[in-house]
Amino acid sequence: MQKIIGAVYGFCVGDALGVPAEFNSREALRITPVETMQPAEELGLPAGTWSDDTSMMLCTMESLAEGLDYEDMMVRFYRWFNFGDYTVAGESFGVGNTTRKAIHTFAKGKSALECGRDSENDNGNGSLMRMLPLAFYLQYIPNEEERMQIIHDCASLTHAHKRSHIACSIYIFLCMALFAGKEKKEAAQLAIRKAFKYYKALPEYKDELQHYKALEDLDAFIAREDSEISSSGYVVDTLEAAIWCFYTTHSYKACVLRAVNLGDDSDTVAAIAGGLAGVYYGVEAIPSEWMDVLQGKDIIEKVYAKFFRRLRKKAAQLAEVE
Ligand SMILES: [Mg+2]
Repeated sequence: MQKIIGAVYGFCVGDALGVPAEFNSREALRITPVETMQPAEELGLPAGTWSDDTSMMLCTMESLAEGLDYEDMMVRFYRWFNFGDYTVAGESFGVGNTTRKAIHTFAKGKSALECGRDSENDNGNGSLMRMLPLAFYLQYIPNEEERMQIIHDCASLTHAHKRSHIACSIYIFLCMALFAGKEKKEAAQLAIRKAFKYYKALPEYKDELQHYKALEDLDAFIAREDSEISSSGYVVDTLEAAIWCFYTTHSYKACVLRAVNLGDDSDTVAAIAGGLAGVYYGVEAIPSEWMDVLQGKDIIEKVYAKFFRRLRKKAAQLAEVE
């Protein structure tokens, strides 16, 4: 479970590190880069405060800890958004448009799987940012089709467009390969190949793959200049930026600092990249001075402890069947 703790804290620390820089331009960050945890002065938040990314990831994790139930997952999103559950300061912040609309639709009485929007404009990173727990939960779902259905349904609670589904799958496959102990390059090649093979065979997804073709030639992608990487909230940009940060650096610290200093959607890019770096380098690679100021560690620990109990139970059930 140590690798999962690394992934979770890697994600949360990346988010918190990025909050003060969100929407800053890359040019401004080049002059005064983020180098450590800082307060988000404009928002009146102390250093180490995490945002919607961590909140929604924790909603997903705690819900999965109680079993796969999309209505329950949406209730948690609703409670986060309206009552500040899973937040440090008791108030949600940073929610994206598509997620907000889905939560409103749910509040009006629609069932969870009918709430996500599926227009091309609904491809922000709001589903990608909460996928991390699935990478660990799906280890205990042996059936491949069932796994894919869970990824797509989980994404569709807010983001039902096929492009978002593919981004979530690539990220989950990559986390799973790193979790399984694969080397960095091999993990990416496996994840990307697997996603392309799977989606190429599905007519309704096939055309969407073109948006991810930059990742197919991994070496060329990694060799890109930072001017060729966009860190916007568009799901393809966020996924690419996070992968680029992870593959162009050699430590947790360098990876998330690079992500934050790309600017724009810095907290989400750093959270997603931080999840990858955390699972790969381990929790001990996260600078202790950042861990010390991370807010709400009690909330995070409570949620992952519950999630671990679920995973252990699932592992035991699987062992029994085998
Ligand atoms: Mg955020």
